[in-house]
Amino acid sequence: MPESIVKPCPQPPGKYEPVIDRSRCEAKGPCVTACPYDVFEISPLTAEEKAGLGFFPKLKAFAHGNKQAHAVRADACQACGKCVEVCPEKAIRLRLRAA
Ligand code: SF4
Repeated sequence: MPESIVKPCPQPPGKYEPVIDRSRCEAKGPCVTACPYDVFEISPLTAEEKAGLGFFPKLKAFAHGNKQAHAVRADACQACGKCVEVCPEKAIRLRLRAA
């Protein structure tokens, strides 16, 4: 394979973390299976997360059992970007973690 199309090495664990847009996630879960480092789970929204939703996202969350993706092992993320690619709702982005 030509060197120009070899993907760059992943980042060290914990340098980046996935951030989930609570107004977009529909708990479909492709991020759970796509992540090679088991960063995600689908689990119930906390009372605080629910309180932070607007009217329509609250209805949407209700329709999906009040569950969404959570980055429960964000410190294992190596920024491969697979979760960002597979999310049908475009609900995930990567952010540099604070030092
Ligand atoms: S960027 Fe890769 S390692 Fe990080 S959470 Fe997404 S799928 Fe997992």
